[in-house]
Amino acid sequence: MALLEIKNLSKSFGDLEVLRDVNISINKGEVVVIIGPSGSGKSTMLRCLNLLEQPTGGEITYQDEDIMKLGKKVTEYRKHVGMVFQRFNLFTLKTVLENVMYAPMKLNKVHKNEAMNQAMELLKKVGLENKKDVFPSSLSGGQQQRVAIARALAMSPDILLFDEPTSALDPELVGDVLEVMKQLAKEGMTMVVVTHEMGFAKEVADRVIFMDGGYVVEEDTPNNIFTSPRNERTRAFLSRIL
Ligand code: ADP
Ligand code: MG
Repeated sequence: MALLEIKNLSKSFGDLEVLRDVNISINKGEVVVIIGPSGSGKSTMLRCLNLLEQPTGGEITYQDEDIMKLGKKVTEYRKHVGMVFQRFNLFTLKTVLENVMYAPMKLNKVHKNEAMNQAMELLKKVGLENKKDVFPSSLSGGQQQRVAIARALAMSPDILLFDEPTSALDPELVGDVLEVMKQLAKEGMTMVVVTHEMGFAKEVADRVIFMDGGYVVEEDTPNNIFTSPRNERTRAFLSRIL
């Protein structure tokens, strides 16, 4: 059974059709990488998955439950779906540790000591325990992104969505963030990753999905899609970025 199933998903902003008949199925423990040109609907697709955007049509089921019909249970659903953004979006007035402690305390009423212990574990995991008391602004972009990942993990999500997590980083900082993501993949975390890091996709992805013009154009193993793409548009895109 798929953990998350996207069926005939469409999304328009006014007259602009951004997603058209998108079908994607994500199994537990899978790493799915989504690639495609700017404006192809990748971010909108991810945002639909945690209902930051309301789809216009189609269905998204999470463990066989239609997430568009959750009503008040949407808050509960969102706890299971972590999101990491291109621009970190950390709380600037909280320390690194407080950033990671916040959601479990606020949303799950976890006791402060427990939240702190867990946050320290997560900061260790992303290699930043020595930065726990500083504010995000004093960190490099790569460090901030690793805090953002620790913060998302603090809610023990079933699935993590990454929207171009390394696109805003200086090149020399990309590697550390990808290392953390690779480690998570190894541990069996279910991940949907929008990225232009083809090395990461080749090494870590179970499947690669190419989107263009709001459609899923092609979906295959990284090996197949990078060495012998079937669709002309996939081929053209890859030849521009590889
Ligand atoms: P990608 O992440 O692949 O670059 P996006 O999902 O961000 O693509 O955007 C797809 C299209 O939807 C673009 O044309 C973008 O301008 C448009 N779009 C995205 N969000 C909105 C919005 N909130 N209102 C209107 N148009 C939007
Ligand atoms: Mg985007």
